Amino acid sequence: AKAAGGGRRHWFDPALDRAADETAHLSADLRRALAQEEMLVLFQPIVDLRTEATVGAEVLVRWQHPERGLVSPDVFVPLAERNGVIVELGYWVLEHACRHAAAWQVRYGDRAPTKISINVSARQLAQPDFVERVEKVVRETTVDARALVLEVTETAVFSTDVAIPQLTALRKLGLKVALDDFGTGHSSLSLLIDCPVDVLKVDKSFVSGPTADGAGAIITRNLIGFVNDFGIEAVAEGIETRVQAAWLRRAGYRLGQGYLFGCPMPAADLERRFAPPKED
Ligand code: C2E
Ligand code: CA
Ligand code: CA
Ligand code: CA
Repeated sequence: AKAAGGGRRHWFDPALDRAADETAHLSADLRRALAQEEMLVLFQPIVDLRTEATVGAEVLVRWQHPERGLVSPDVFVPLAERNGVIVELGYWVLEHACRHAAAWQVRYGDRAPTKISINVSARQLAQPDFVERVEKVVRETTVDARALVLEVTETAVFSTDVAIPQLTALRKLGLKVALDDFGTGHSSLSLLIDCPVDVLKVDKSFVSGPTADGAGAIITRNLIGFVNDFGIEAVAEGIETRVQAAWLRRAGYRLGQGYLFGCPMPAADLERRFAPPKED
């Protein structure tokens, strides 16, 4: 990184220089980490707000770094997006998620969770062979694709022309599409018309707003009517308190996710939530 215009770096704050070095290290480390199985996936429950039964889960990646400990995806996902590692990392996450989902489908049949939600980055969505590779993972893991949801952001959808045709093709294979972080950035309702969407994930900034009873509350309340009229589902994200859950339920939200119902957890812990109690 120092090769081009390296001399000029002397003018910068050495602390900033160190931070840039760290970032470069971490970025290079990502390739090694994937090969050496330092990555793991956790599952955060998605629940029915009335019964609090677990109906699905969002798959969230973690990096267990040998020296740094647990590195947050908020740190390494953007780095992986920049250096391209996100493409392979994304398929790695997908494959692990599908293997678990397939095993649950065999073991629990109708009681196995649906809505196994997998985050897809902009870079991944832009790959011309995205549909082919997802199809291959589905085939090889023998998972019922109807239980899978691909979470994309509006930015990812708009960053490439192939996004909408690819998502349309994947829906034909039975997968569902969720629009993630709805309500942040410049997300617009018009995307729901242009983009093939099955699920709207309403961002936590909206979900935590309602208790203050301001504009956020009005939008959150009206959004659900819109969602119902479009025949899609909504998942309220980042629910942390009983007050928020009750408010959202009254506003008409059926599905929710957040620390109140469960933090991201290993597959075995999620499984315990939908497995029936053992007879003895
Ligand atoms: P996201 O897709 O919006 O995921 C939800 C984030 O909110 C997760 O953070 C989750 O742990 C956190 N969260 C859940 N419930 C609560 C709550 O009640 N309160 C608060 N404050 N936060 C809550 P996490 O796991 O650190 O992931 C951060 C972001 O990293 C994700 O945001 C997503 O953009 C990205 N990410 C994570 N895993 C993957 C992946 O496999 N692929 C890609 N492309 N991105 C991923
Ligand atoms: Ca997500
Ligand atoms: Ca989200
Ligand atoms: Ca986010």
